[in-house]
This record gives sequence, C-alpha cells and structure tokens, in this order.
Amino acid sequence: MLILATDDDGGPEIFASVQGEGPSMGIPVAFLRLSRCNLACVWCDTAYTWHFTGDERPHRLNETFNRKTNQIRLSEQEVAQRILALGQKRLIITGGEPLLQAPALARLLDYLPDITVEIETNGTTIAPPSLDIRIDQFNVSPKLAHSGNPAELALLPERLDTYATDQRAFFKFVIAEPGNVEEVLALQERYCFRPGHVFLMPEGTNSATLREREKWLASLCVKHGFRMSDRLHIHLFGDTRGT
Ligand code: SF4
Repeated sequence: MLILATDDDGGPEIFASVQGEGPSMGIPVAFLRLSRCNLACVWCDTAYTWHFTGDERPHRLNETFNRKTNQIRLSEQEVAQRILALGQKRLIITGGEPLLQAPALARLLDYLPDITVEIETNGTTIAPPSLDIRIDQFNVSPKLAHSGNPAELALLPERLDTYATDQRAFFKFVIAEPGNVEEVLALQERYCFRPGHVFLMPEGTNSATLREREKWLASLCVKHGFRMSDRLHIHLFGDTRGT
C-alpha cells in the first residue's frame, strides 16, 4: 500500500506534465506525489504532504492540513495502472519524502518494468537495493540552514557521501538569498560533488519572485560553476497541486 498526496479534487496526485526543475526540466513525464516527510522546511511548497493538524513546527503559511483529506491509500497495482494510463515513458516520484515508502515503491516498480524512473529526495535516506536497482536518476535536494531544519537532521554525512559518489545523483539546492550559496560552497568542498551535477534553484512560489532572484543567482552560478534551475511549473501553473 502507498500513501499518496491528494489533488484539489481529493484524488491521488498522479498526473502528466513536464518536469519543472533540475536536469530533466522540460521532459514530459508522469508524476507520482507521495505523502509524508521527515523534515519540515519553513518554505516548503507541498506542506499538505506533512504539515498536518497538531504539527506545531513553523511554516510560512501558518496553516495545517487535515491528514484524512490530504492523504489517500492505494495499492501498488492501482497506482501502477494509473501511471500507465498517462502514457509517459518517464516517471518522477516526488513528495514529501518518497523514500520513506521505499519497500512499497519497489513493489510498485515491479509493475512498471519499462519506465525510466527519477526519485526526488531530501537526501536524508537512501534506497534499499530492491528499489535502488530501478532508479535511473536521483534528484537530491539537501536542505540548507534557511530551511529551518537542524543540520543534524537535514545534512547527514553518510547519506551525502553515498549520493555524492553515485553518478546517477544530481544535487539541487534551494536558494533564497545570495548568502545561502556560501553553505553550498562548504558542502561542495566537503563532499566533492561531480562537476555539472550541482544546481542552484531560487526559492519562490510565484514568477515575480523567481525572476527577481534568478538575476543574482545567475551571476553566482557563473562565478562558482554551478548550473541554474528554474521552476517551470510555477511560471506555467502557479503554486498549484497536480501540476
Ligand atoms: S524536504 Fe521537501 S517535502 Fe519535506 S518539508 Fe522540505 S521541501 Fe517539503
């Protein structure tokens, strides 16, 4: 059984779109968004996957979500059927933190032998072998201090070492102000991420904020040799579910 996030109609958040971020930006894909996360980022744009009623950790919206109406449980077989019905060759598994449901994901992918798979993870956990063998690309987004998570929860050396030495892994850092890049440089020094595998992406949930931040972020990418990621889905659809 998988625990999925819900869309605006209360159905499972499984949909076709173009990938909006990172190295596969622009590729048509199927998306599967799972519920639950082990971190709590203050600027998280999918707080409905984890910031449930009673959770007093801070979040920019000061809003909590009803767990019952924002989660849906489906069998692996049903999820696979819904993904196949979208007719896409590539699947993005996102969240929340999808690797919290690794055993069920491995069972899901048994039903999808011909699909290319990307997993988006916060980098605090790794896939067990039964799942790892099916992953073509990891989009790892370690959370910096401005996320509000303590480093001892968000930046786990053993996990980051594992991803840094995996050529399938790309790193995507969310940047809200120029000073955040200093922390990325320190991590780059410590973990020796592969050239071309590090993206800086502006934090923002509207086009105006993204465009304003991209102006200074582009210069910092040029200066330090990082790649820059936009958030294409925000420009196209705004901060909405199922997109
Ligand atoms: S790790 Fe990702 S899903 Fe979890 S709180 Fe942070 S931004 Fe949201």
